[in-house]
Amino acid sequence: MPGDVLADGEPRAIDMHAHQPAKEFLEDAGGEMMRDAAKKFGAEMEFDTYEGMREEYYAAGVKKVVLVGWDAETNTGNPPVTNDYVAGVRDEFADFIIGFGSVDPLKDDCVEEAERAVNDLGLSGFKFQQIAQGFSPSDPEHEPLWDTIEDLGVPVIFHGGNSTLGAGSPGGRGLRIKYGNPMLIDDVAATHPDLQILIAHPAFPWEREQLAICQQKGNVYMDFSGWLPKYIDDEWLHYAGTLLKDKTMFGTDYPMIGPKKWLDNFREYTDYPEDVQRKLLWENAEAFLDL
Ligand SMILES: [Zn+2]
Repeated sequence: MPGDVLADGEPRAIDMHAHQPAKEFLEDAGGEMMRDAAKKFGAEMEFDTYEGMREEYYAAGVKKVVLVGWDAETNTGNPPVTNDYVAGVRDEFADFIIGFGSVDPLKDDCVEEAERAVNDLGLSGFKFQQIAQGFSPSDPEHEPLWDTIEDLGVPVIFHGGNSTLGAGSPGGRGLRIKYGNPMLIDDVAATHPDLQILIAHPAFPWEREQLAICQQKGNVYMDFSGWLPKYIDDEWLHYAGTLLKDKTMFGTDYPMIGPKKWLDNFREYTDYPEDVQRKLLWENAEAFLDL
């Protein structure tokens, strides 16, 4: 049995995927599709302060989180979690929060907003949720956005796989899960070799496509977020600890899944050697984020 690399209680892990435990995300940006998701996760949509969030993370052994913005306004009609909001929280909790912005690729000013988010607000990367935002990354109309982010020199996180947003409602609230297919990201990775891309979540039901892309594209990575390890496909878990052990990162999808709950499940359902645990829980994230 390998040991637990967080057993001494020192916060070291880096969570690559957290949302706001706040009305701005859970109610305003999330709307009805988020309430559907909460039902699916069995999670209570409880708000917390950022002090409370940090305490919960430190107690679980996590030192930093990537907090992501959200702008799916064109497709959903819901207001965004703005880049200014994310930058404001980051400023207040700079030792704990790494801010990733969001731009809505369907808005005319998305390229300018991406530049402003990095150059003026100092955000560290971008997060896209193609299903909520209703776009395909491989659509040529988005090329200027990928060119711009590649030039800005910051990484991007794309959603991977199905989504629980809208789950169970008639028509799934009109969301199209095809946009979560990682093969649409492969096109972006191929034409933007200097763009560092993280495919968030085990990309159910396209895990094998995701594994293939992460193996073949030096600039594409993956994370565990959104899934407790006990529900993740064995093949995916095997690759994460072997062929892709330098390219896989810890993530929760907080507040849907909290850090303690995820890490306890990781301890119970995986048995990666300690050197691999260190890579998965923080070393790979440090390299990806250039910390
Ligand atoms: Zn998420």
